[in-house]
Amino acid sequence: MARYVFLGPPGAGKGTMAEMMGAAFGVRQISTGDILRAEMKAGTELGRQARQYIDNGQLVPDETVTAIVTARLADPAIAAGGFILDGFPRTVRQAELLDAALERHGLTLDRVVLFEVERELLLTRLTARRVCKACGAVFNTLFNRPRAEGVCDACGGPLIQRTDDSRSTAVERLAVYERQTAPVADYYRRRGLLTALSGAGHKDENFARLRQGLGL
Ligand code: ADP
Ligand code: ZN
Repeated sequence: MARYVFLGPPGAGKGTMAEMMGAAFGVRQISTGDILRAEMKAGTELGRQARQYIDNGQLVPDETVTAIVTARLADPAIAAGGFILDGFPRTVRQAELLDAALERHGLTLDRVVLFEVERELLLTRLTARRVCKACGAVFNTLFNRPRAEGVCDACGGPLIQRTDDSRSTAVERLAVYERQTAPVADYYRRRGLLTALSGAGHKDENFARLRQGLGL
């Protein structure tokens, strides 16, 4: 089964595409952002450590996030069933640690997809993003409005803004992306693994482009 990395700036739609891939093909999504938010919500030690970075738009330390991912790669069901790494690796160091972990498990990546969206649209999307406090479903007050304002279509839970989606933190996250994550695209480009796609359209349009790019 296929093993992918989804790469791109915050707001590029990686998580949405990973979810749609899961629904269509049963590939498992491993989102470090979702995992860290679940830890924060549960009030674990890992969650407490992560919060100070996340709320400031900074990256959680490489060793911490890599441990989260490698624990999942060690699960034979995940290794055999295929997966999408969504939001990992985010630094060249993480990419190197991932390579080492994959090698230990005798796994290789099939493709790395880079979703590209211009900066102004990213900021617009991020600041308009709302998430369900109960189930985590993602909406957008401009592009993907819930049926009733402030209420989750899926479960009826309340929609909130992620603290790191405030404009000032979103600006910082984009700067962190340029500085620390953009080099990861070059890392995979040099290995011939990178496919760059536009993430600027509507999600259905982007998903069609993604399927085509992956030959699915
Ligand atoms: P987005 O892609 O919209 O920025 P995520 O949900 O992927 O959002 O990540 C939210 C935050 O979680 C990041 O800004 C960062 O602080 C932390 N995080 C997630 N994945 C990683 C990672 N691979 N390395 C370091 N920090 C991470
Ligand atoms: Zn919900």
